[in-house]
Amino acid sequence: MSKIAERIEQVKDTIKETCARVGRNPDEIRLIIVTKSAPIEAVQEVLRLGILDLGENHVQQLKKVSAELAESAPDGKVPPIRWHMIGHLQRNKVKQVLPKAFLIHSVDTLRLAEEISTAAKKLDHKVRVLLQVNTSNEPQKYGVPVGAATHLAEQMQTLSGLEMCGIMTMAPLTRNKDVVRACFVRARELFVEMRGERIVGPEFKELSMGMSSDYEVAVEEGATILRIGSAIFA
Ligand SMILES: *Cc1c(COP(=O)(O)O)cnc(C)c1O
Repeated sequence: MSKIAERIEQVKDTIKETCARVGRNPDEIRLIIVTKSAPIEAVQEVLRLGILDLGENHVQQLKKVSAELAESAPDGKVPPIRWHMIGHLQRNKVKQVLPKAFLIHSVDTLRLAEEISTAAKKLDHKVRVLLQVNTSNEPQKYGVPVGAATHLAEQMQTLSGLEMCGIMTMAPLTRNKDVVRACFVRARELFVEMRGERIVGPEFKELSMGMSSDYEVAVEEGATILRIGSAIFA
């Protein structure tokens, strides 16, 4: 078994064990492999292992990896990759990422949401997005502040080019699990509240939270999407 295969197995085992401990079904959890600067051979190995959800945090990198995979496909056939745009998205990059993105995790302003909606309508499709919330309150982090999230969700719900599918958040990089957990709990509470008050529709069902260092806590707190990079490629 390759190193990458081994590490993916380890992550999947941990997800299963954590789910068993807290009474969740592991099938409810989508594992995204975050490729970032991983070599193309490593990304190909991930695809060979049957994982089709890939995440990138830069539009340029997403396009590059996607083009390289297409060029190097053994029989000219690339598997149906679901690309997740997980990093900060500039409005002038929206048109480039739109045709490729399965889900945009990082919508945090009305202006960006409007730009995506307008571009989506021109392509005649709905773009699936998550609302990125800054649950850690760190000033350098992207994401709408917790206190402004509901209002932004209400405004985004009126944009016909978007399908709002849930919330994304990042915990601070700290070993303090209580700090991490508090962020994930905040995200979940916001998620439950938005659904409960019908601010959002039935397709609002994803909680994207949990990275290599904190995905166990994220699973315990209700994550439906994990974004894992360094645990696989480091
Ligand atoms: C890089 C990145 C990840 C993955 O982080 P790892 O610690 O490498 O697992 C997840 N989400 C976002 C937004 C990222 O930029």
